[in-house]
Amino acid sequence: MSVKPPTSPACARCPVALGASCCEPKEDEQLATLTRADVERITAHARLAARRFVVEEGLSEQEAADYETRRPLYRGYFRRGPVRLTLAMRAGACVFHERGRGCGLPADVRPVACRLYPFERWPDGSWSVQMGRYGDLAEARAGGDACLAVEEAESMEDVLATFGTTHETVEALGEQLAAEARAHGRG
Ligand code: SF4
Ligand code: SF4
Repeated sequence: MSVKPPTSPACARCPVALGASCCEPKEDEQLATLTRADVERITAHARLAARRFVVEEGLSEQEAADYETRRPLYRGYFRRGPVRLTLAMRAGACVFHERGRGCGLPADVRPVACRLYPFERWPDGSWSVQMGRYGDLAEARAGGDACLAVEEAESMEDVLATFGTTHETVEALGEQLAAEARAHGRG
């Protein structure tokens, strides 16, 4: 199942307002975790070998267990070993990021984690947005991990509205990610 990802008008203003978008992480931030299904979709679309856009990050067994505990959509991801696949970077941004234009991949080819961002399901099963609201753009810019759409929203309903999406769509994307993460772990 492929679900149309949310996009927000805030994404176009984000790099100026916050200094960088979520596709241009700070040094201690990470890009999306990839499943094998993400890699296959991107390889088929871009006709690009996986080694050109995938980075393997080795974790300890404890780090992998903690990752799955904090992010229930990834349960089963590390079943075959504590290696996280993520997107390679070039000049401080994801290899698919085009300055001033955003993601160079079609919406339905992007990693599911990118399509879901900034929505996340927590260990108690509830949905929220990935980062706390700073409430002040200067603080958000300095603090990292910020999302302009979240900063400008007053509630979860506001965030859904600005991305033109619904709880149901976010839930469906979450189900897709959970299924692909489990399949990733089965190898
Ligand atoms: S951080 Fe939020 S507002 Fe900025 S580009 Fe990403 S999803 Fe859009
Ligand atoms: S794949 Fe696209 S949306 Fe995801 S981090 Fe890279 S540029 Fe951003």
